[in-house]
Amino acid sequence: MSDCVFCRIVQKEVPAEVLFENDEVIVILDINPIHYGHALVIPKKHCRDFLELPPCSYQAILEAARVVCQALVRGLGLEGYNLFSNNGRSAGQSVFHFHLHVTPRYPNDDIRFVLELKKYSDGQLKHYAELIKKQFDSI
Ligand code: AMP
Ligand code: ZN
Repeated sequence: MSDCVFCRIVQKEVPAEVLFENDEVIVILDINPIHYGHALVIPKKHCRDFLELPPCSYQAILEAARVVCQALVRGLGLEGYNLFSNNGRSAGQSVFHFHLHVTPRYPNDDIRFVLELKKYSDGQLKHYAELIKKQFDSI
């Protein structure tokens, strides 16, 4: 996809700091890091989001994530890191080519989602479980 910045990075049309690359995956440094060393694990084939990923790509993506996590832990002396993916505009996705974020974390770095946690009322927990579980047979 010529208008996709990650496809253009894969094609070497846009410069990026590449940490790791193989036939299926490229791992780069995020240009606007949460912490220095914040990396992005990107499958080379264009897929908009997690649900579009071909299952045969899962292993390569997670293996690259494991390698980069290990390298961050050892290279930056980390004790903690986050792995996450934003999928869909409402979830904060801004580049619509699937990627996994791998971010260093430090004690008391004060990075957190500001959350107002809900409670389930009587019967609601089961209700939501049923809404979800009844889809499983058709997926
Ligand atoms: P998301 O908002 O979850 O879709 O994440 C997209 C990430 O890509 C953001 O953290 C951006 O800083 C990062 N990003 C966008 N363009 C580039 C680029 N050319 N090189 C490296 N990272 C980028
Ligand atoms: Zn793309």
